[in-house]
Amino acid sequence: MGNAVRDLGVAAAAGKSRRSPISSMRIALACGRFGRIARIPASFSWRCLLGSAAGTSAGLYGAACGRPTARDLEVLRRAAHKAVCRRGRRQAAEMVFMLSPVAKLDPKAVVMLAPVVTAVRALRGGTLPLDTWRGVADAVSAGAGRCFGPVAAALRSMQELGLGRDIETWTGVLEAPRCWQQAARSCRSQAVLVRAWHCAEVKRLAGRRPAFAHIAGGMEVWATKRLLKPGALDADVQGCLRTVLADGVVTEKLAAKWNGRGADCPHCRHGLEDHEHRFWLCTAWHSARCRALEYSVPAAPRSTRNLWRHLPDGVARTVTLAVSPELEALQLQAECEDPVLPPQQFVDMSSRARTVWTDGACLRPADPFLRRAGWALRLDDGQDANWGGPVQGAQTVQRAELTAAVAASRLAGGPLEIVSDSEFVVLRCAQIAAGANEGEWDHDDLWKLLAPHIRSRRVRARWIVAHLSPTKARARGLSERDRLGNAAADSNAGAAATCGLPGPARVSARQRQLDCLDAAQRLMATVELEVMKATGEQGP
Ligand SMILES: [Zn+2]
Repeated sequence: MGNAVRDLGVAAAAGKSRRSPISSMRIALACGRFGRIARIPASFSWRCLLGSAAGTSAGLYGAACGRPTARDLEVLRRAAHKAVCRRGRRQAAEMVFMLSPVAKLDPKAVVMLAPVVTAVRALRGGTLPLDTWRGVADAVSAGAGRCFGPVAAALRSMQELGLGRDIETWTGVLEAPRCWQQAARSCRSQAVLVRAWHCAEVKRLAGRRPAFAHIAGGMEVWATKRLLKPGALDADVQGCLRTVLADGVVTEKLAAKWNGRGADCPHCRHGLEDHEHRFWLCTAWHSARCRALEYSVPAAPRSTRNLWRHLPDGVARTVTLAVSPELEALQLQAECEDPVLPPQQFVDMSSRARTVWTDGACLRPADPFLRRAGWALRLDDGQDANWGGPVQGAQTVQRAELTAAVAASRLAGGPLEIVSDSEFVVLRCAQIAAGANEGEWDHDDLWKLLAPHIRSRRVRARWIVAHLSPTKARARGLSERDRLGNAAADSNAGAAATCGLPGPARVSARQRQLDCLDAAQRLMATVELEVMKATGEQGP
């Protein structure tokens, strides 16, 4: 192996015991997988970072290299980008997939998405007329047009991403088809692209490697990566978890392909060592498993055997969770829900000035499939003083707060003071009043509704501190009227968000699923670390 190994830095990661049989196997494996990216014009340490950042089959690096700094990632990204641009996309096949910390890091994603993003910008900005786009697109698909140039590059990327060629339908230039409505409404087109790219990558991965077959329909990135957050686990265990997630575990059965020796488990001497044996059956790691399960979360089974039985297909090998179509449909339904805004009142500046307390809430904000947002407002007096409802589009607390402010602006026709505990809403309102343009902001669909009223000085927003007891409110100078108004809006918003949650049976099934995944990840990472310790394979 010699120079090649040193060049790849695998020897350094494998530590002083690199001559132990399993280590050589790991090195051979890593070399094979890294051969393709060895020519990246980046130094050894950058390539190590690449491995640890990516969590690819180089999971080997995971335990040895910590989380790279933002600066390292940026340097790395540029180096890899250069390499990919020079040698074509396929060279980077194994570099990074969905496990990278940021989508921007992935050089393949950058190369793939950049032409489309540029075309979208040009279309929106008017520098690329829609007719020109269509003309070139027709020509390219008929085989008559030029197959290079910015439009052709964008078309090629869209084809590889499975997006068809109707760029204008999801950029907001024309009406979006149903499948893109959700994304077009609630976020930028980049999010659509990144999502499409993730799906395409995962599908390719599942086709290439049988261990990932169960996620062919999409991987649940959030649930799968929860324990990779800084501080969620010991760094060593996290490194091992990366190895497991990337299917980089080398069992004796796998090693036997190179060394020609038997595949018997060297740790218990009871049968063949495959993934199932190592993680779930081998008696040598029994106490490690028990230790891992001690820390696990309440809804997960306590015994290894029960846990194993509860894991969905494929999860017991790579602990990557597939997207549940049912939960996805429910989430989409929640995002398409009508926000039930009050009717727009006739604007009449001579009518009485009003005060409205607004609030937004979001339940389970971290969970991409259970998060539900609700908005509410409380009018200073009158019969219909309380309003509230679901939030359309992205289920976030910011969007909920903003929806509440939009609702308030519709409810009163005269001068209106919105009292909100959202710094986001109040600060942005002040920026609009000072002349800022809301066109490039997140949730610009809602800002467009609110901004004219702020510019005309009919509506202004005031910030108050939220959720104070009467005593503390007095101490902080918050009037009792504001405190009660905010409290009413707050509880109404919470109730509105709760209405959107799927039934309790589904919520608890989801919790159980997440807890089981969490427990399985802890267990497998702990066992993998034990194996590495037993075989002397620790980082330098
Ligand atoms: Zn064993």
